[in-house]
Amino acid sequence: MGRIIAVDIGGTHMRAACFAPDELKPIQQKRIATLASEPGGFDRLVQVIKDVWPKDGDVDAIGLGSPGPLDPHTGYLLAPPNNPEWHNFPIAPKIAEQFGVRTFLDNDANLAGLAEYRFGAGKGHHDVLYLTVSTGIGAGVIIADRLLQGYHGLAAELGHCIIDPNGPLCSCGYQGHLEAFSSGPAIVKYVLGELDSGAMSKLTRNENMTARDIADAANNGDSLALAAYHRAGEYLGIAVASFLHAFDPSILILGGGVSRVGSLLLDPFHASLKKRVFHPRYLENLSISTAALGDDAGLLGARALAELKKAA
Ligand SMILES: [Zn+2]
Repeated sequence: MGRIIAVDIGGTHMRAACFAPDELKPIQQKRIATLASEPGGFDRLVQVIKDVWPKDGDVDAIGLGSPGPLDPHTGYLLAPPNNPEWHNFPIAPKIAEQFGVRTFLDNDANLAGLAEYRFGAGKGHHDVLYLTVSTGIGAGVIIADRLLQGYHGLAAELGHCIIDPNGPLCSCGYQGHLEAFSSGPAIVKYVLGELDSGAMSKLTRNENMTARDIADAANNGDSLALAAYHRAGEYLGIAVASFLHAFDPSILILGGGVSRVGSLLLDPFHASLKKRVFHPRYLENLSISTAALGDDAGLLGARALAELKKAA
């Protein structure tokens, strides 16, 4: 069995690694700046793969992870953020042609979920719901040991589930999505709106305010900051209750910077979730865990995708 090359194409960095079968640590890895808005992105991608290519050339498959939207079935990027060069771009077919090796593509959140299932917090589970709560809200869903991709390859966009059709505007331009309630920027936007309406708080209006600043204020007992996290956790619970009804996983894995604030978000989340599942059986033996793989999740997910797909 040959080796796998995995590439995580992030907004700021591209990371490539070469993995031997059954080894978690890469044989070789390299990280370069993505420079998404500058021309030559494809050449940089080819070069970073060449940099980790084994001398004997024995590579079985390449796995690519990128922000969506994209089509994992055709290997086309549809409209990655900040990169006009890669709109409707056949990235996986072009890499396959360049290197003469089968190449597979999926989005970063799906791949982080797949990595947690194969190598991280979800190891040993067959039905996994992974949610990353950060600048945005992304998800990866594994059902009966298969990554849910969907007919168009656009499944599991759980951050864009509609929680309240009259709710705040989401980063995608539509209204009332989960991401517009519980992501980091949504928490900040809520606090700024409340300050504008005259809410009492130690926080002062500041365009550079972060969800972390609000977490610090909440930990010091600031009532507006506490309310902001309470609201984010409450809505996250509403959404996850629906996700349990849809997918019925045995483990929920929470990743992303916002979920790392801990009980500020998670206490109201748990209370809200418990109130909203329509049968208590959904919660029986349901593990709720934090993500185990951190920054390596995208890379390990691209590797897991290539391993699974080449064997299929
Ligand atoms: Zn949205």
